[in-house]
Amino acid sequence: MADIIQLLPDHVANQIAAGEVVQRPASVVKELLENAIDADATSIQLLIKEAGKTLIQVSDNGKGMSETDARLSFERHATSKIKLAEDLFQLKTKGFRGEALASIAAIAHVDLKSKQEDTEVGTEIKINGTKVELQQPCVTPKGTVVSVKNLFFNIPARRNFLKSDAVELRHIIDEFQRVALAHPQIAFSLHHNGNELFQLPSSNHRQRIVNVFGGKTNEKLVPVEEETEILKVDGFVGKPEFAKRTKGEQFFFVNDRFIKSPYLNHAVTAAFEGLLKDKTYPSYFLYLTIDPKRIDINIHPTKTEIKFDDEHALYAILRSAIKHSLGQFNVAPVLDFDRDANLDTPYNYSGKQATSPVIEVDRSFNPFESESKFTSKSSGGNAKSNYQSSSYAKKNEGSWEALYTASGLNSEHESNFSNVEFESEEVTGSLFDDDKKTESGNTFQLQKKFIISSLKSGLLVIDQHRAHTRILYEDLLKSITVKAAISQQLLFPLVLQFSQQETAMLKELKDSLVQTGFVFERIDTHEVEIKGIPNLISESEVSILLDQLLSDFENEIPESGFTQTDLLAKSLAKSMAIKTGAVLDKVEQIAIVNGLFACKEPNVTPSNRRVFTTLSADDLEKKFM
Ligand code: ADP
Ligand code: MG
Repeated sequence: MADIIQLLPDHVANQIAAGEVVQRPASVVKELLENAIDADATSIQLLIKEAGKTLIQVSDNGKGMSETDARLSFERHATSKIKLAEDLFQLKTKGFRGEALASIAAIAHVDLKSKQEDTEVGTEIKINGTKVELQQPCVTPKGTVVSVKNLFFNIPARRNFLKSDAVELRHIIDEFQRVALAHPQIAFSLHHNGNELFQLPSSNHRQRIVNVFGGKTNEKLVPVEEETEILKVDGFVGKPEFAKRTKGEQFFFVNDRFIKSPYLNHAVTAAFEGLLKDKTYPSYFLYLTIDPKRIDINIHPTKTEIKFDDEHALYAILRSAIKHSLGQFNVAPVLDFDRDANLDTPYNYSGKQATSPVIEVDRSFNPFESESKFTSKSSGGNAKSNYQSSSYAKKNEGSWEALYTASGLNSEHESNFSNVEFESEEVTGSLFDDDKKTESGNTFQLQKKFIISSLKSGLLVIDQHRAHTRILYEDLLKSITVKAAISQQLLFPLVLQFSQQETAMLKELKDSLVQTGFVFERIDTHEVEIKGIPNLISESEVSILLDQLLSDFENEIPESGFTQTDLLAKSLAKSMAIKTGAVLDKVEQIAIVNGLFACKEPNVTPSNRRVFTTLSADDLEKKFM
């Protein structure tokens, strides 16, 4: 039989390689940004059109390429970054596989302009699907501009596989942020369809994090520093009280490269043990420096997974470094038994739960009360919680022992800003419509979590948080789509800081938010002024509620208008609902029961979790057999 094996033509081989390197526009962004960094650029501009489907352009002021190099850079396995196999173990660059440009050129229209410092003119190359269409001298500043147009033009299946612009843009922003966070000394900008999304000046790690995630991030960061023989760690973790319900802001960088590592993530989570509310995730931005000999970056084409020599040691060092920082910066009052309870968060007062130190404005502040109540202990970075707690200090006297009881500890974990609602008559009253207050019905509360009610046929057990979430969710959907909710006017407008990206998202959600009761005076690039808020929330909760909303939207991008409304209602309902641990009086219990059974779908929460269960008299009978 004749021989049947043949070598694949270059363009086919490149297309196959591209399948691994380029999954979506964001992959191109990553490769081009990394090339610019490897070229020692100090300023990098990213320009995107239609979420990268029509244009991805990266301009840098790096060292540029010669005419020959510019041509060669599009060949497969063409790289200036390594020469020998040994070089793989002392990598200082992002790239080394020499595949990116070849792969990208195989599946897009690429235009590259480049000029080195000491040459008069630059060179321009146009390539369409691996075919070089043209190379000519051109006028261009020092550095390189790569424009990638019509991605996947020759692979319709891949093109059709791309998600909505919102989703693809989200991926691009993720990659951009990772690269920008890893290289704070380099200036970056990102424009999408002519709008500036990021403008990041050259800075340090902390400042870069704040520039990317908005001014309010600064106060949330706790520095982490540790240096041992095998590992240097620096960076920041977020204070536990700012932990999010989604895993948005978790970043590991190893030698300035963003990586994913479930194992190291576990080490961080372990360091936070006992400090986080249920189902919340801490933010972290951790920069690890490890001898390149001790790691292998070559196990994945996109290089986001790496292998470490001595994982166990890294785990232990990381965990203890973070624990130490959290202790040192006093962000862990729950572990700190020695402090004066009068100055601290109240763990228990008049039978209620502690609230997380999150209140921005002390509503019970009375300037005519004695000064001494407000003396704040100047412990590092914890001023806010002292401020909040000081107003409760009197009521709290003597009740600090509750901390040692099991329920005291639990409630501390589960406490949440929403408890605040129950600390003031005024808010509690507005939580439930008058017509829902029935005096009939027999209910009581169990473990500050369940509402128990008797049924004709047995017993009804309702999860209070889930039930309230369902009620609010249906109410919110109604206000957004049918009839706007009532809002409460604020005496003094609330001014909140956000990142540029967040304000862009708020603008998009503005109409729906207005329906739920928000009144916006203005939404600027970094600042939002709010004049009115929904009736059901207090002023102090607004910032946390919006933060949570934005992070929910960052992590789950809705594909259509309906899902956007749905996600908004879901997120707000969850934030606004009473929490496990909140003590409910009879009227509130009954309002929840009645409200729940007036819902269209009382059985499950908006995220499909069971709201109540019943225990029939028969079931009970059986227990006595
Ligand atoms: P790798 O980065 O793995 O070397 P690439 O295909 O991404 O492979 O790039 C090939 C080569 O092209 C690089 O090694 C580098 O020499 C050159 N190159 C790519 N982009 C730039 C740039 N922005 N500035 C200067 N040189 C570049
Ligand atoms: Mg590269």
